[in-house]
Amino acid sequence: MANPTEPTASPMIDRHGRTISYLRISVTDRCDLRCRYCMAEQMTFLPRSALLKLEEIAIIAERFIARGVRKIRLSGGEPLVRRDVGELVHRLGRHLGAGLDELTMTTNGTRLAQYSGELAASGVRRINVSLDSLDADRFRHITRHGDLAQVLGGIAAARAAGLAVKINTVALKGLNEDELGAMLGWCVAEGHDLTLIETMPLGAIDEDRVDRFLPLTTVVDQLRVDFPLVRDDHRTGGPARYWRVEGTATRLGLISPMTANFCDGCNRVRLTTEGKLYLCLGHDEQVDLKAALRNGGIAALDASIDQALTLKPARHDFQIAAGAAPAVRRHMSVTGG
Ligand code: SAM
Ligand code: SF4
Repeated sequence: MANPTEPTASPMIDRHGRTISYLRISVTDRCDLRCRYCMAEQMTFLPRSALLKLEEIAIIAERFIARGVRKIRLSGGEPLVRRDVGELVHRLGRHLGAGLDELTMTTNGTRLAQYSGELAASGVRRINVSLDSLDADRFRHITRHGDLAQVLGGIAAARAAGLAVKINTVALKGLNEDELGAMLGWCVAEGHDLTLIETMPLGAIDEDRVDRFLPLTTVVDQLRVDFPLVRDDHRTGGPARYWRVEGTATRLGLISPMTANFCDGCNRVRLTTEGKLYLCLGHDEQVDLKAALRNGGIAALDASIDQALTLKPARHDFQIAAGAAPAVRRHMSVTGG
């Protein structure tokens, strides 16, 4: 098999002229929590035989780096429940400063006490930790069985290991809407950034998302009453738009795919744990990189990536309406949030 890092690769530009420089990898669809907006209580996960092997994830990621990806985020499911994830982080970390600018992770934080040191030693500098409530009972309700103290301990361990932490909070009507100011206040006190996310119609869950949908436009109006928020033109090529809490180190990000669409500058693609490359969180177009790699090596992988670039949609078209089917059937945990 050819060396996946050989620099003969061409950059990736999609049919809408967008350069792809960001790869998200869902390393497992499994999770130790069952957040109500993300998963149903009873989930059927992929058989282990269907998953990419660690070596295959690494080869695919390295080919993407050779073709111009500068940032990789590991996600899931819960990335830290995959047993060999430390090995993957270590291997990809070797590309930092040599093609790759950033290696990062989105995690629910339950295993950060165990893994933070290893992540930092492999070159990870920043992580996103999902946290939807600072009230232990409410946290348990939203996650169905999460332990808040364990996650807060994980966040403290991450900071002690030198990792910068951004908290991800999904704004949920009737569940945590009264707590978003307290969450921002806590992030300011702890020196974390905060990103608020609108709930998106991805995969079947046990409730109707319309009951939980909270537009972030109204949330920001409320937060501005208590916090001196000033616009910040920081951009990541992603859907987030930013504010800064004046006089503090905290940046507030808003991911509002339902009330605002920022797909024009989209620079990302998503690899599932099964080896499918999805071009958009909200569409079904995909190519099978596992089959390509297994059957034809790097040349076939390249050909499939090139095909994918012709399929990337211009934009998602999420809608949340009472009783409406999800925009796509797969859960966020399959594509990696
Ligand atoms: N398990 C890890 C975690 O929770 O951080 C990583 C995977 S999780 C799918 C990634 C992010 O997606 C989390 O911040 C989560 O809150 C968010 N998420 C999951 N389902 C969502 C949905 N339907 N709408 C909006 N955000 C969602
Ligand atoms: Fe698991 Fe993350 Fe989904 Fe919660 S949001 S169920 S932690 S994958």
